[in-house]
Parts: sequence; structure tokens; C-alpha cells
Amino acid sequence: MHHAHLKSTAAQRADQTPTVSIIVPAYNEEMVLPQFHERTRAVLQNAGCPYEFIYVNDGSRDATLDVLHRLRRFDEHITIINLSRNFGKEAALTAGLDHACGDVVVIIDADLQDPPELIHDFLAGWREGYDVVYAVRTSREGESWFKRFSSKWFYRCIQTVSDTQIPVDTGDFRLMSRRAIQALLRLREQNRFMKGLFAWIGYPAKPVLYARDPRSAGVSKWNYWKLWNFALDGITSFSTTPLRISTYLGLTTALLAFIYASIVVYKTLVFGDPVRGYPSLMVVILFLGGVQLVFIGILGEYLGRIYNETKQRPLYLIDALTPSELRQHLSNSPERLSLTGHSASSRFPP
Ligand code: UDP
Ligand code: MG
Repeated sequence: MHHAHLKSTAAQRADQTPTVSIIVPAYNEEMVLPQFHERTRAVLQNAGCPYEFIYVNDGSRDATLDVLHRLRRFDEHITIINLSRNFGKEAALTAGLDHACGDVVVIIDADLQDPPELIHDFLAGWREGYDVVYAVRTSREGESWFKRFSSKWFYRCIQTVSDTQIPVDTGDFRLMSRRAIQALLRLREQNRFMKGLFAWIGYPAKPVLYARDPRSAGVSKWNYWKLWNFALDGITSFSTTPLRISTYLGLTTALLAFIYASIVVYKTLVFGDPVRGYPSLMVVILFLGGVQLVFIGILGEYLGRIYNETKQRPLYLIDALTPSELRQHLSNSPERLSLTGHSASSRFPP
């Protein structure tokens, strides 16, 4: 059935040229942006689709914004969203998705670790009828042994504890159809573990394999502490298994404690009551104290996240939105800027 649906969608899309919105979150990327833009623009021109670039400056502290404005002066396809401060990549992506008009959206990193040439394969996948075409890395050049190792274990771990099947070795680099974006935009949670959200929406998805290049210039914004917190976010937003573990561990210790208590009572009744058992008492107290603190901590992790959700704060704030020249033209004829229309492939003249 799935297959039949794919086929009919593919037939519909076969001769369409979708409008492509490229979303690029950028945080301190002044070094790579010109190179990135040139390479990606070439790919899109080859693809022959109308396109727009949405650069989201995520509170960069270097000249990223200036570089973007300079690029925009020579390219009428560039829209710039300047966030009011650094909100993190997830929020930056959301800002971009909120403002994308394309029939399809491509999410890509600015540092050229995601080769833009893959967009051709993405578009081919879309024509085959898929809603999501995502890049899967087969190698991770320039990343430390420890990073690869920890990432592998993180995926193992989250696969086992979560109901949502999150694909391994997959980043944010992907293409999404209009309906997939619409679905994703309905998930307004504060804790934006994007890999999980992408997987949660379902819809036919296709992997495309590639070898991940090392960062072309600049430095990665990730350190191990951030990665650890990222992993915690991932697990807590997509699984309540840690809470359940505490229930079962609690039950098991209670049962063992009951058995041990019976033995103690029996021994006291039969052999009298010499004062002994200090070491075992200490062990039990320390063990239980430790276990309790750990699980209070886990409760706290969930509680803190609930607290954040209940505040209902916006996911990001925009300082300035500079629409592309194309968008400015189009806003004079607003009927063509409908975000939900499906056949409007001429929304952006190529
Ligand atoms: N990024 C962002 N906000 C942040 C951190 C990163 O917009 O707070 C962007 C960054 O500019 C890049 C992408 O997210 O385009 C991926 O970041 P990075 O290369 O540091 O991550 P890695 O590739 O090491 O996972
Ligand atoms: Mg990178």
C-alpha cells in the first residue's frame, strides 16, 4: 500500500520542478560562508529548480552577519534572518523552517561538512515520491576516535529505550517535502532534539549514503559537555524508560530488603541480639542513599524539562529579517506567496 502511494506520488512529481528552500544555520561561520555559498549555489543552478537561501545568523560573535549581507548584495536569492542572540542550532533551524516558502526544504550545515552536491540525490529521492530524503554518513573524517565511539553508543542506547526509531549516523542534513515540514512545524516543544522530531513524523523516508568531510574552516561548536547534554535531551524527550528503571530497581531493592529483614528478625529471635552488623548497615545505607539520589536526579531532569515546556516561551526571537530581492518583488503580488499551495513552482522565478 505504501508502495502504491509512493508510485502515484512519484508519477505526480516526475515532471515538476519544485521550489527549493535551503536553510543554513550559521554561528561564527565567517570563514566558510563565501565558499559554502558559491558551491551550493552552483549545485542549485545545475539542478534547474527555482530556489531561495535562508541564512539564519544564530547570534554570531564574529563578522558572519556582515559576510551574509555582502553575499546578499550579489545574490537575489538570499534571505537573512538575524536572531536576537545565540539560541542554538535547533532553534535556528526552526526559525528557518518557519520562514521557508519552498515546495521542498533542504537543511544543511554552513561548514561544508554536508556536501551540497548531495542535493541532486535528494531531489531524485523526492521525485521517487519520498517525503524525507536524509543523508547517512558512512565515514566521519577528522573526528576523534572517542567522538565516534560515544556517538555509536548513544545511538545504540536511544534505539533501545525509545519507541521512535531514530536512524543511526544521521544528522540534520536532509530534504523534506512540504507536508513533512508542515508536520514538523506542529511540534513546538522547547526541547528540540531534531533527529528525534524528524523521525517522529514518519512519512516515507529514504537514506542517501555519503562520506562526511572534515570541517572546511572554523571550529566545531560542540564539546563533550554539550554533547553529553545533547544526549540527555535526546533520551529524555523520546523516552521515559529511565523513570521506569527507577520503579523496577526500587521494587527489586524493596523485595531484597524484605528478605534480608526476615533473616535478621529470625536470627535475633533464635540467637539473641549481640550488637553486630555495623559494616552491612553502612553498605546498605550508602547504597540506598546513592540510588535514591541518582533517581531524584533523573526525576529532576524530567521535571526541569516540564518546567521549561510550561513556560511556553517562543523558541527564538528575530532581531531582523532581511528578505531576498525575489521575496520583495513577490510581496507586491501576495497571492503568489501562499505557503500552502502545491503547484506554485513559479513562486520564485529561476
Ligand atoms: N550552529 C548554530 N548555532 C549554534 C551552534 C552551531 O547555528 O549554537 C550551526 C553552525 O554554524 C553549523 C551547524 O550549526 O552550520 C553545525 O555546527 P557544527 O559544525 O559546530 O557542529 P558539528 O558539525 O561539529 O556537529
Ligand atoms: Mg560541522
